[in-house]
Amino acid sequence: MKTTLTKLLVLFVVLATQSVFAGGDRVNNGGGLAEKNVIYAYEKLESYIKLCLVSDTCKLNPAQQFILQKIYNGLPSDKNSTQLSFSSERANPGRFIIDGNVRVAKTGSLPGSAIMINVDLLYNKNQNGSYEAMSIPEAVAVLVHEFGHHYGNYSHEELDLIGVRVSLLLQSNLISTPLVPWRSDISMTVLNQDASGAFPDVLLYVGNDIIDISRQYRAEIECVAFKIPIPLLPLPDIKLNTKTPKGSIFHNLHWEKIKDSETTLDVQITGNVSNRCKVKSDTEIRNNSAQLSIKFRMNKSIDTWIYDPQSLSLRQFEEQWWKIIKLPNLPN
Ligand SMILES: [Zn+2]
Repeated sequence: MKTTLTKLLVLFVVLATQSVFAGGDRVNNGGGLAEKNVIYAYEKLESYIKLCLVSDTCKLNPAQQFILQKIYNGLPSDKNSTQLSFSSERANPGRFIIDGNVRVAKTGSLPGSAIMINVDLLYNKNQNGSYEAMSIPEAVAVLVHEFGHHYGNYSHEELDLIGVRVSLLLQSNLISTPLVPWRSDISMTVLNQDASGAFPDVLLYVGNDIIDISRQYRAEIECVAFKIPIPLLPLPDIKLNTKTPKGSIFHNLHWEKIKDSETTLDVQITGNVSNRCKVKSDTEIRNNSAQLSIKFRMNKSIDTWIYDPQSLSLRQFEEQWWKIIKLPNLPN
């Protein structure tokens, strides 16, 4: 924990002081992956801050808790549709210099003040020499810091520490599963929240796009009260009295390739689903027996993959041993 915190702090110092070159279409106004992560973090900021406020594992001291609570209470009226914008220090020298340092973001001192993000610092070169976009948890740290300036005369360092706390908790609840580990252009990111009544954020990253399929995930999961097992593949079991879960966790994910050609790639990612199911009016249990597969197609466009929204399908299922083992006295 301590080392991750140190690493994150080092990262912010690096972000705050170094100029990182990011080329290509990554740095267009709001169009690149990091910009999209920042926008997503901005939209979800209340729920991410709440996660920290209600969790003992966030380890805020009372002063930090007080500041973060003020930010949380203020956010609904602080946020507005034109608040967040992207700009470049390199293109506008001096715009992001605060107290002699180039900063990753800038804002005013009142709720509702514009928040400007420095796109020069949104992409970092990794050890393979390729550029990595600022992640959602990193963006959350930046945004908590900036919003903090709206609620008092706090130092950058003080706000950095609070931002890092929220960010670390988020990071520890986040599962990121790339299709192949040495490339980040196709990956699945799931953010599970521990609270029993919560559902995960399920995000597909394809090329330069983030596809939020949390709604489709929620629509597909179910609690099955009674089941009549049909011991033959490929017939599904007969399910009776299915109910909508009260909460869910999606975990243990892995990719499978379905089909590929010169121009298309069909993939599937499967994980375990733990649904919170109501069994009696006052009793809820966590049912861990289901899995969920997400299937979709990507089309190749020059050197990037483009997600095909029509191809998406999700399915919850249970893999039962009696379906895998061929029983001796059953007809073929
Ligand atoms: Zn600051």
